[in-house]
Amino acid sequence: MKTLRTIDELRLTGDVGLVPTMGALHDGHRSLFRAARAESDTVVASLFVNPAQFDEQSDLAAYPRDFDHDAAIAEAEGVDVLFAPSVDEMYPAGFSTWVDVDDAGAEGEARPGHFRGVATVCVKLFNIVRPRRAYFGQKDAQQAAVLGRVVRDLDIDVEIRVLPTVRDDDGLALSSRNVRLSPEEREFALGLPRALHAAIGADDPVNAARASLNGLDPDYVEVVDLGEAKVLAAAVRVGSTRLIDNVILEGELS
Ligand code: AMP
Repeated sequence: MKTLRTIDELRLTGDVGLVPTMGALHDGHRSLFRAARAESDTVVASLFVNPAQFDEQSDLAAYPRDFDHDAAIAEAEGVDVLFAPSVDEMYPAGFSTWVDVDDAGAEGEARPGHFRGVATVCVKLFNIVRPRRAYFGQKDAQQAAVLGRVVRDLDIDVEIRVLPTVRDDDGLALSSRNVRLSPEEREFALGLPRALHAAIGADDPVNAARASLNGLDPDYVEVVDLGEAKVLAAAVRVGSTRLIDNVILEGELS
């Protein structure tokens, strides 16, 4: 595996699969690397904690970072190129062009500017890496939906692949932010996947999930249309950690 830090070094051609990440890699990321490895001649993983998508400075400052751990995981999963640029490399002085996203759903409303940051960095990565396919997790369902919209709207020739959410044995969706939860908070957080699963098949899944959140106060509970599947998505705050999750209501992810 090669680690590259500048855009100029990355001049790839052919059948490239891209997995964008912010590091603190776990089994959810591994499943994306494996899918990319199985389907692509060259696998590029990006590792970039994108300041533009953080709506809270404290969240950005507390975001876990461990380059050596991440590089070892990426290498073990057969990643060919780890692209780990600096903030200055991605947002040089004078940077002033953004991909704005209207109507980015409840997560977009809850986190002003978040999807503008996500869309901008992903379009930059698509232009830098020129992948045939880019791999995203169902865990961030609205992100996947937004990026599907972005590539259609801007005629970017990249296939957006969405892979199922990987969970811990207790049902909590893996997230780089889970390390911030105390044991008590983690127990409380399990109310999120439980409420979402309990709502599958209900006549009114949004209200069914709300009713079984067990004291967790959601930012939103809403149905998100991913095209091939509809998911029930919610965000809750447990202590100072914000968690999101979703379950499939209809259809399936390929
Ligand atoms: P992040 O590093 O959190 O920005 O996530 C990078 C990619 O991994 C995104 O496409 C996420 O949706 C995906 N991802 C994060 N957690 C999971 C998970 N538990 N299962 C599957 N994919 C995930």
